[in-house]
Amino acid sequence: MTTENGQSSAPSASRCYATCPRCSGSGEVTVVFVTSQPRSKPPIGEFECDACHGEGKVTQYKLSKMKRGEAFRKYRVTGCGLGLREAAKRWGIKAVELSEIEQGIRQTAWIPPGFNDPAESA
Ligand SMILES: [Zn+2]
Repeated sequence: MTTENGQSSAPSASRCYATCPRCSGSGEVTVVFVTSQPRSKPPIGEFECDACHGEGKVTQYKLSKMKRGEAFRKYRVTGCGLGLREAAKRWGIKAVELSEIEQGIRQTAWIPPGFNDPAESA
C-alpha cells in the first residue's frame, strides 16, 4: 500500500480575488428609481453590478482602486466639506473625472490636494 501525496498548487492562486464591496458578492445592485408619479409597485430594479460585472468578486487591484476612491470621497466630503462639482472646480479637474476616480473606474495617479495618503506614509 503506497501513500501518495499528490497536492497540486492551484495556478489561480497568483490572482487573488476579493468579495465585491459594491454588491457584497451578489453580483447585483438594487436601484430604486426616483419618480414623481405614484405607482402601485415601487420602481426598483436589479442590475448587474458595474464594479464586478455580475461576478460578485473583484481583483485585489480593482479593490484597492475602489478603496482609494472611497478614501478620496471621504476626504472630500468630511475633510473638505465639498460637493463633487465644487471640489472638481477647486481642484482643477472635471467633475466626471473626479466621480470616476472616486468610483475606482478611472485609472490615475491624481491625488486630491492636501490628501494624506496612508499607503505612502506607511
Ligand atoms: Zn459587484
